[in-house]
Amino acid sequence: MDKILIVEDELDILNLLDINLQQAGFQTDLCTDGLEALKRVEEFKPDLILLDLMLPGLDGLEVCKAVKKNPDTFHIPILMLTARGEEVDRIVGFELGADDYVVKPFSIRELILRVKVILRRKQEPLPSPIWKYKGLTLDKEKMFFSVDGAEVKLTSTEFKLLSELIDAKGKVLSREQLLSRVWGYDFEGYARTVDAHIRRLRKKMGPYAEAIETMRGMGYKIKVE
Ligand code: CA
Repeated sequence: MDKILIVEDELDILNLLDINLQQAGFQTDLCTDGLEALKRVEEFKPDLILLDLMLPGLDGLEVCKAVKKNPDTFHIPILMLTARGEEVDRIVGFELGADDYVVKPFSIRELILRVKVILRRKQEPLPSPIWKYKGLTLDKEKMFFSVDGAEVKLTSTEFKLLSELIDAKGKVLSREQLLSRVWGYDFEGYARTVDAHIRRLRKKMGPYAEAIETMRGMGYKIKVE
């Protein structure tokens, strides 16, 4: 049975969602506060989160960002609930990682359909979590990186940076894209930050530093064997 965490501070809507999702065969857990939501995510381990945008404690955008930044929870799909005119652009435009959104007032039938679509999409097989290039191996699930078979510790930023480049499969990513994907869109950083981390990452790659290519004036890309 799929588990759904409902985060909504309007109790009428919370109850309506709870009753209907249970009737549709889901196991639910409820909370009305953004900070509480982060705790419930860790304890309840939902398969999907229904997340209201305007919440006490921590707003929905912050909750979404926190869930998507945590390697233990980033895979959990999030369906945002917004009032008309709320910051839909930011939700979908800034790659916060929300999987979909619905605008209030919504039809409960449509909402349940969307939930089912997202959960079905999630069950499709994922690409292999293991990346290899010459003597380099990165196991993304285990966060294990090795050079010629010997483990080399990466910081979480280096891990995310390398994962983004690998996920782009040889496509060039600009420094700005990397800044927003690895550090978050509101990080007050500079292109130099990216360069510095790439330099450290290359150092850790030892003889295979060429795995990350610099595309002058454009950004970086990973070499594909
Ligand atoms: Ca609200």
